[in-house]
Amino acid sequence: MQTPEKNIIAKTITGKTNIVGLIGWPVSHSISPPMHNAAFAELGLDWCYVPFPVRGDSTNTGSNEMVEKAVYGLVGLGIRGSNVTVPHKQAVMPFMDHLTDAAKAIGAVNTIRVEEDGTLLGDNTDGRGFIADLRDHGVDPAGKRALVLGAGGSARAVVFGLAEAGCKAVTIRNRTVSKAEELAAAMTPYFPNCAITAQTNSDSTATLVAANNEADLVINSTSLGMTPHVETMPWHEDVAFRPDQVLYDLVYNPPVTRIMQHAQTGGAQAICGLGMLVWQGAIAFELWTHQEAPAEVMRQTVETIFANK
Ligand code: NAP
Repeated sequence: MQTPEKNIIAKTITGKTNIVGLIGWPVSHSISPPMHNAAFAELGLDWCYVPFPVRGDSTNTGSNEMVEKAVYGLVGLGIRGSNVTVPHKQAVMPFMDHLTDAAKAIGAVNTIRVEEDGTLLGDNTDGRGFIADLRDHGVDPAGKRALVLGAGGSARAVVFGLAEAGCKAVTIRNRTVSKAEELAAAMTPYFPNCAITAQTNSDSTATLVAANNEADLVINSTSLGMTPHVETMPWHEDVAFRPDQVLYDLVYNPPVTRIMQHAQTGGAQAICGLGMLVWQGAIAFELWTHQEAPAEVMRQTVETIFANK
């Protein structure tokens, strides 16, 4: 196995190098280029992952002109595919020829594959990445009841992943309850056998206690607890976790958040969301290369980067 530093030095672009990349703004902070390039190097693949900084709207007219140019530029330049990050995950959707059910239900594309005939497949690997990391930690969501905190972009992927993996019930608890209701309504047609409901987090702790009593899995998909606001958490201090529960926190900076500490105090298993980042990338890697991703190398690369930040 090679270190990320060695990978950067060892990479040689040839006339046959396959290019993939990341469309977003900004992209300079992204860990995806070193993560994917370490994976290509590990398998000896002549592939390279590069950042594509794409402005949201160069004309200030509200159009997605630059996004459109960037997406069709993938085809024109023979690029094999791309990840898509904020703020373009929705904006790229109209330019796709095909969308997977995951992309349609989540309402966002995070991975594009340019097919052999030049058509564009839009997928979303976040939900499957989340489930892959849960399973990596020995947790199978099938038949379980989940409580999802938050109803933003990442919650959409989490709810999709849980329902697709066979969760029997998902409660979405959010500050803005209308967003939780909209998310539940959007997912229900795809998963009629999963009871997907919404609740507000702005009432007394009584509903949180009741929801927690029902929950096998609790997932934080809010941004609370993230650096620099490490003292915050989307939970009440006086509501205890149980040893039979699992708490998954999508926040990975810091690696142990306040809600993770609270869950551990109650004896619950607490999982940091860094692995979701790795697995969504691993699944994208497999979509492009049709080869099994070296997920452990990708994880070590990401951990090394965060350890040195
Ligand atoms: P988002 O779309 O902006 O949604 C943020 C969510 O947090 C909303 O539900 C929002 O509630 C809630 N929230 C924010 N501030 C709050 C507060 N003070 N009190 C109560 N609720 C609050 O963000 P996102 O894309 O879903 O990302 C959420 C977190 O997940 C971020 O920390 C992000 O870094 C992380 N993430 C991790 C991964 C991974 O791979 N591990 C992937 C994606 C995202 P309202 O709807 O009421 O505003």
